[in-house]
Amino acid sequence: MDKMKKWKNLCKAKDIVEVLNKKHFKASYVETLEEARDKLLEMIEEGASVAIGGSTTLSEMGLVDILRNGKYKFFDRYQDLPFDPDIVEIHRKSLTADFLVTGTNAITKNGELVNTDCTGNRVAPMIFGPKNVIIVTGVNKIVGSLEDAFKRIREIAPMNAKRIKHETPCVETGTCVDCDCKKRICNFTTIIHNGIKFEGRIKIIIIADEIGY
Ligand code: SF4
Repeated sequence: MDKMKKWKNLCKAKDIVEVLNKKHFKASYVETLEEARDKLLEMIEEGASVAIGGSTTLSEMGLVDILRNGKYKFFDRYQDLPFDPDIVEIHRKSLTADFLVTGTNAITKNGELVNTDCTGNRVAPMIFGPKNVIIVTGVNKIVGSLEDAFKRIREIAPMNAKRIKHETPCVETGTCVDCDCKKRICNFTTIIHNGIKFEGRIKIIIIADEIGY
């Protein structure tokens, strides 16, 4: 990566970590995806139950294979099973996991975490359920305001719909039309304003790089 861009990303990571820690999240930064993976695995003790939320960052990290082959109780939502009832049941059990590992769709400069979900299996346990939440995200998710976060989510949603092969209008055009189809992926939007209620429960690893979308 260009040296100046790397430096700029590092500055962004340091700044947002400071903001997030003031908001009672437990935030830290690393420089690469590999360092994020190592840090994340250091946080999860052997034998812990782990669920993950859909995330391109975690996919790039190869986390599913790591969890499948590690010494964890993995709530594996990527098994080749019917969505309802089998995968839905895994989502339900995931609410009681020791750890939820996930990305985030956006972080505002004010330290709010903004996410939109299809099923709710990611946004619900980010708020309550699992004892620990570890969020891994690149600096490209940082936006100016809540309005910018909603705009960002609307812009990236068609890519997510295409990635998970949902037949939605945006998969044809690349643009959100606020659809009303069964396969709609934008059903639940949450804002986490502050981590103070369960201090330290939400841990955030910021990668000083542009990862995922
Ligand atoms: S609301 Fe519908 S059209 Fe818009 S991004 Fe979501 S799935 Fe696509």
